Amino acid sequence: MSETRDKVLLVDDEPTTRLVLRRALEQRGFEVKDADGGQKALGLFPEFAPDIVLLDALMPDMDGFATCTRLRALPAGQHVPILMLTGLNDDQSIAHAYDAGATDFFVKAPQMTLLAERVRYLLRTARMQADLVRSRSALAQAQRIARLGSWEWNLGAGKVNASEEARRILGLENEASDVAEAVFIPALYRDGLDAFRLLAFTSLRAGRAHRFATDLFLSDGHLRPVEVELEGERNKEGRISRVLGTVQDMSERRETEEQMHKLASFDSLTGLANLNLFRQRLLEEMLEAKRTNEIMAVLVMNLDSFKTVNKTLGAAAGDAVLREIALRLSRTVRARDRDRVGAHDGDNAAVARVGGDEFAIIARGIALPEHVERIAERLLETVRKPVMLESGECRVGASIGAALFPRDAGDAEILLQRSEFAMTQSRQAGRGGYRVYSPENDEKSAARFRLESDLRNALDRKELRLHWQPIIEGRSGKVSGAEVLMRWQRGDKLVPPLAFIPIAQELGLIVPMTEWAVNEACSQLADWQRAGIGFDYVSVNITSGHFQERNLLTFLRTVLEQTGLPASGLQLEITETMMMDSLDTTLRTIRNLRDTGVRFAIDDFGTGYSSLSYLKRLPVTSLKIDRSFVKDLDTGGDDDAIVGAISSLARTLKLAVVAEGVETAGQRDALLARGVEYMQGYYYSKPLPATDFEALLRNSAVRESWRLPAA
Ligand code: C2E
Ligand code: CA
Ligand code: CA
Repeated sequence: MSETRDKVLLVDDEPTTRLVLRRALEQRGFEVKDADGGQKALGLFPEFAPDIVLLDALMPDMDGFATCTRLRALPAGQHVPILMLTGLNDDQSIAHAYDAGATDFFVKAPQMTLLAERVRYLLRTARMQADLVRSRSALAQAQRIARLGSWEWNLGAGKVNASEEARRILGLENEASDVAEAVFIPALYRDGLDAFRLLAFTSLRAGRAHRFATDLFLSDGHLRPVEVELEGERNKEGRISRVLGTVQDMSERRETEEQMHKLASFDSLTGLANLNLFRQRLLEEMLEAKRTNEIMAVLVMNLDSFKTVNKTLGAAAGDAVLREIALRLSRTVRARDRDRVGAHDGDNAAVARVGGDEFAIIARGIALPEHVERIAERLLETVRKPVMLESGECRVGASIGAALFPRDAGDAEILLQRSEFAMTQSRQAGRGGYRVYSPENDEKSAARFRLESDLRNALDRKELRLHWQPIIEGRSGKVSGAEVLMRWQRGDKLVPPLAFIPIAQELGLIVPMTEWAVNEACSQLADWQRAGIGFDYVSVNITSGHFQERNLLTFLRTVLEQTGLPASGLQLEITETMMMDSLDTTLRTIRNLRDTGVRFAIDDFGTGYSSLSYLKRLPVTSLKIDRSFVKDLDTGGDDDAIVGAISSLARTLKLAVVAEGVETAGQRDALLARGVEYMQGYYYSKPLPATDFEALLRNSAVRESWRLPAA
C-alpha cells in the first residue's frame, strides 16, 4: 500500500512542530519524512522524491525562502508543490513565499485538519497540472508522430493558435503558438488570406469538414506535400466564427508510397521490370535522349503461339520459357549498352515484361533510324533459339513492333502505344517478323476503324444498294439474266464492293448483308416479271462461308415463296477458290440447292488452280470466265486458247458459259467465235441502279443495238 500513499517532506527547525505535524499527517494517510533545516531537506529530496514539501519560512541556518529557491533548481523540484508555513500575520513572509517559488502558503495554526486539507488540495491540483502537462506533451508527441499539426483560426482576433507541429510543418518554428493570420494563412495556402477565407467559407457552408491537398513552398526552396482539413464553428448568430483545422505532412507518407510502388515494380516470375517501372524508366530515358539529342527506340515483343506452349507443355514449362526469354533479352540489351558511357550496371529496367507473353525494350543510342531494325532482328534471333526444357526442346517465335523517339512520338504513352500498334501490324502481316511504326499505317488503321463501325450500321441504316448488270445472249442481244452487285452509300460516297465486302466478311456481317441482297433481288425481279419486262434469272454473289449456314436452304425457300419468284429465277455465284475451301460441305449444299431448282454459277472461272477436273463433280449450271481472259482476247496469245478450252469443256458438261468484262464488239465477236454464248460487260451496260436498269429494259432501241446483225 505504501506506493499509493502521498509522500510529504516536512521541513521545520522546531522539533515539537515537526512532531505534531508529522503525527497529524501520518494519521491522515500520508507518508512523512522530516528535516530540521534547509540543508538536510535538499539532501533528502532527490531520493525520497516527495509529492509535496512543507517548508517553514523562518529557520536559522537556511530560511524557507532560500530553501525553496534551491529546491526549485533541482531537476525534480520544478513542479513539486511547495507549501510555505508562515507565522500568523507574517505578511512579509507571505509576499516572499511566491517570489521564492512556493505554490501556496499556510499560516501555522492549531487546527491540523485544515493543513491536511490544504495539502490534499495542493496535491490534487498538482496532479491535474501534471496530467495536463503530460497530455499536452503527449498530444504534441502524437502530432509529431502523425506529422499532424492542429490549428484554430479565431476570425475575430485575427489570430491562429497553432500547435508546435503545425508550426513546424509550415516552417513557422520561430513563431509563438498564437500566430497572426496574415502570417499563418499565407504559409498554409499560397493564394493568401483572402482566397483562403473565401475557400473556407464556401466549403464550410454545407456544415461539413473540407479536405484538400496542396504543396507548401518552404523558405529553403523545398516543396512539402500536405493535406489540410478544415471544420467551421459557428457562433450564436450562426456565422462561422472559428475555423478548426489540421495540417498533415505527407512527405514521408508519399515516400512510403513510392517505396511500395517500387516494390510493386518488378515482375516476380522473370525479375524484369513490370509495366509501371518501365513507364517510369521510359520517361527518364526520354529526358536523357532529349538532352543528348539521341534517337531512342521502344520495342514491344509478343511471343507467337505462347498459349500453345502453355496448353501442350503445361504452365511450368510456359514459366520456364518466359524466364529463359527474359534472360536472353536482358543479356542482348545489356551487351549493347555495355560500351555506353553511363549505362547502369546490372540494371535491366530497360527490358520489361509488360504482359503475359509480352516484353518491352528500350534501346538507346541509336545512330540511324534503320538501326532499330538490326536490333529487332537480333532480338528475334535470340528468342528463336530453342529453349531446353526438362521435357525436351521448345521453340517460340515472336513478333516485334518498334517506335522511335523523337520521330514517332514525343510522349512516352504514345510512343509505347505506337510500338504496340506496329507489333500488332507485324503480327497481322504474318508472325515472326518485326515492323517499325509508320504514320501512314496508323492513319490507315484509324480510317479502317471508322469504316468498320460505319459498316456495322450500314444495313440497319438502309445504306446498301444493288446495281444491276445485264447478262446478254450474244447473238440475239436478248437479256437473259442480270447480276446484282452491291454498293454502299456511305454519306455522299458510293463505296465499291471490294472496299467493304472483304471487311464485312471479317466482321461476320456478310450473311445478313447477302440475305438482304437475295431478298431485294428476288422481289425486284418478280416485280419486273409480273410487269412483263422481266428476264430469266438474277444472279447474286455468295461467299463460301455462307454455305456453312445451316438455314441457307430454308432461307432461300422462304424468299422464293414470299416474292413469288420461281426457283429458276435465282442464281447463286460462288468463286472457284471459295468453293475449294471446304469442298465437301459446299458440294452437299450445292446439290441440295440444285434440287430446289436454283441455278448455280462458278464465278471468276480460270483464276483458281482447281479448275477443270472438279467441274464434273459439281452440279452447277454455268461458268463465268474471268475478265482477265477476255481482256486480251483480241490481242491474241494464250488466253485465246484457254477460253477455247473452257468453252469446249463446258459444252461437253452441258454448262452455259458467260464471259465477264466484255468491253468491245471485237471481244464479243472473238468470244462468240470460241463458242461462248453469254456476255456481260461495259460493252452492253455498266451495273445500274434498279430504276435506270428498268429504263434500259424498257428501251427497245438500245436492246435492238445489242443484237448481232444476221450474217
Ligand atoms: P464479280 O462478281 O466478278 O463482279 C464483276 C465485277 O466486274 C463487278 O465489279 C463489275 O462492275 C465489273 N465489271 C463488269 N463488267 C465490266 C467491264 O466490262 N469492265 C470492267 N473493268 N469491269 C466490269 P464490282 O461491282 O466492283 O464488284 C466487284 C466484286 O465484288 C465482284 O466481282 C464480287 O466478287 C464482289 N461483289 C459485288 N457484289 C457482291 C455481293 O452482293 N456479294 C458478294 N459476296 N460479293 C459481291
Ligand atoms: Ca460475280
Ligand atoms: Ca466474276
